[in-house]
Amino acid sequence: MAKGFTLETYPWAYTAQFNEDKKWIEEYIENPHKTPAEEAALSPEESALLLQQRNSFPKLPLVNYTSQYGMGCFEGLKAYPQKDGSLKLFRPDENAARMKKSMEGLMMPGFPEEMFLEAVITMVRKNRDCGFFPAYDAAWEADNYVSGHSVYLRPFSYSEPAIGLGVSMHPWVIIIATPVGAYFAPGNAKAVVTDKARATPNGTGWIKCNANYVIPILAKKQAMSEGYMEAIFLDSVEHKYVEEGSSCNIFFKMKNGSLITPELGDTILPGINRKSVIELARDMGIIVEERKVPIAEVMEDAVECFVTGTAAGISYIESITQNGKTAVFNGGKPGELTTELLKTLKNIQYGASEDTRSWMVEI
Ligand SMILES: *Cc1c(COP(=O)(O)O)cnc(C)c1O
Repeated sequence: MAKGFTLETYPWAYTAQFNEDKKWIEEYIENPHKTPAEEAALSPEESALLLQQRNSFPKLPLVNYTSQYGMGCFEGLKAYPQKDGSLKLFRPDENAARMKKSMEGLMMPGFPEEMFLEAVITMVRKNRDCGFFPAYDAAWEADNYVSGHSVYLRPFSYSEPAIGLGVSMHPWVIIIATPVGAYFAPGNAKAVVTDKARATPNGTGWIKCNANYVIPILAKKQAMSEGYMEAIFLDSVEHKYVEEGSSCNIFFKMKNGSLITPELGDTILPGINRKSVIELARDMGIIVEERKVPIAEVMEDAVECFVTGTAAGISYIESITQNGKTAVFNGGKPGELTTELLKTLKNIQYGASEDTRSWMVEI
């Protein structure tokens, strides 16, 4: 079954390219496939070959600004199987807006939000209509959908052929879909503060761009080799303030009951889950502060900690270690507020509670 991210890509993909006439030329591509049941019966070799074919786009250039210089950005969003049997996307309008901002931040033409919305909806529908979607499973209700599956959509930009330095004037926007299950391996939720710098002032930290992932991946690898699950980044100037996890936003519940999270700025990625959690917590009557978060303060006074992101959902952090000193939150167990927020968000996403904020979009 789907575990974390996989490259068991669904058959239908989408591409659009900004052509010489400044028009986006769209294409839905039906890559080679059989029925899901037939594919499940394939040998590992046959299956690998099929998936390789689905991850091959002959019209796209290999050498370009994206593959050579990391000039590209992406999005990640999910469609959730609903209790009523349908599939719904979570806040795709927010991803559409951020994708456009990211592209413009990299000096590319921004992809129109309406096209993004229609493309992600159509992608989920076309894959569903040929049998590729996770069916709702009532067993997920037992752990508040932490074990729930979903369709992960990965829209990304990809430049025209190029070898010299420059910005992409005729990018593609590509969307692929994969099934996804629980993200973090359970059993370890320990985090360690890294010395590495993810983002610098006046840099690209606010853009969901490929290049921003290099350092966090290295930091997370390093952390994992030391027995941790996650790396925590501090600000790169003073190395005093918490900024993010390796690819997720971070929250702390303090002794006084308030919830704090680093304020947005050019070194913080404006997460959609971050924004949603802030709204849900405020609606529960919790005081939420978006401000500078000194690591020294949370090592002393935080009673719960969790990270948010489309991949991570809401994942509790049991402890943070910095320079050999460890702060353990809530005895190393998920806290009450963390669990309440997770439950509230997942229930909305899987259609187990009413979507009063109109966050969910029908396929
Ligand atoms: C994508 C991302 C997040 C989470 O954003 P969501 O919209 O909640 O998925 C957080 N931090 C970084 C660096 C990211 O790239």
